[in-house]
Amino acid sequence: MKIVDARVIVTCPGRNFVTLKLVTDDGLTGVGDATLNGRELAVASYLRDHVVPTLIGRDASRIEDTWNYLYKGAYWRRGPVTMTAIAAVDTALWDIKGKAAGMPVYQLLGGRSREGVTVYGHANAETVEGVLAEVARYVDLGYKAVRVQAGVPGLATTYGVSGDKMFYEPADAAVPTEAVWSTERYLAHTPGVFAQVRDEFGPNLKLLHDVHHRLTPIEAGRLGKSLEPHALTWMEDPTPAELQDSLRLIRQHTTTPIAIGEIFSGIWDCQQLITEQLIDYIRATVVHAGGITHLRRIFDLAALYQVRSGSHGATDLSPVCMSAALHLDVAIPNFGLQEYMRHTAETDAVFPHGYHFADGYLHPAEEPGLGVDIDEDLAAQYPYRPAALPVNRLEDGTLHSW
Ligand SMILES: [Mg+2]
Repeated sequence: MKIVDARVIVTCPGRNFVTLKLVTDDGLTGVGDATLNGRELAVASYLRDHVVPTLIGRDASRIEDTWNYLYKGAYWRRGPVTMTAIAAVDTALWDIKGKAAGMPVYQLLGGRSREGVTVYGHANAETVEGVLAEVARYVDLGYKAVRVQAGVPGLATTYGVSGDKMFYEPADAAVPTEAVWSTERYLAHTPGVFAQVRDEFGPNLKLLHDVHHRLTPIEAGRLGKSLEPHALTWMEDPTPAELQDSLRLIRQHTTTPIAIGEIFSGIWDCQQLITEQLIDYIRATVVHAGGITHLRRIFDLAALYQVRSGSHGATDLSPVCMSAALHLDVAIPNFGLQEYMRHTAETDAVFPHGYHFADGYLHPAEEPGLGVDIDEDLAAQYPYRPAALPVNRLEDGTLHSW
């Protein structure tokens, strides 16, 4: 089962996606997501110029060996561009292995540990009244978990709050737009929003909130403490986590659970967070953390320390990544939650897929492999458009984390 073709497909059905498609000499195909939001072409070049030439003629059944070949063989280790490229190859090889075995990939990962994958949606609005209406909409759709983001009075824009509720896309311009941030205004406003949401929807709805790396550890400790009466399922990315020790300070001040990991590219980015139990949920993803093979390693390490998965699932991950994520989610013992932002109809058409949502759960496809493909003719109708994520400044002009 040799790889005879490897195509890197860049398409923009509403937003940019990079996809790797592998073809074997016995006619099997596999797809892997290689999308790195705002840096898409860097990964496409990494794949085309440095990876594809080494794949042709390689045995497609050797997933582990290929992972190590691409990781150790590059000499330059880690980093989002490298790990996203490796993830694409790894995901495509799992897809091929599933098709060769005649089984959905989750069967190759040990089979089902649960009946469905609990997902959370994004309820966001400028006003508290708008937030309550958005949460109600998700509850009506069957969601059992909702992430809540509200506008902050005095700020023109706020992360996570957009006009297009269902298909929020922050990468909105070729050159980054600039937003203004005030930690003081945010900390004063946010606990009251959650008090009203909890009061309106009762104790059983899982509520989540994304801080988007905007607080210092002690500020995050204060926020977490102020949110304790409203029993959040998690507080996401409370502070930048390059300094993993800093999470200890937050832990000293609050029992609000913490979720981190959407920008991590490997196990070494979260080793201390997991082994010292400084987080409760690890949010690394298939596409950015080295594929199914490497993310499984992260989840297995996390399981030893009672840390559960909570994988990133924003619209900047293609349906190929979501398909792969669902096979892992349904198989691992320590699954927590899966983020699920719906793609547009144009994106869904480019990536025909077999997973489906029902009653608050996503279900992976039952067909052999990952159960997803890319329509290359349709993809060709949507050429790449430069789109960058915004940047953020404090009110005095100081650059801050977005
Ligand atoms: Mg996030």
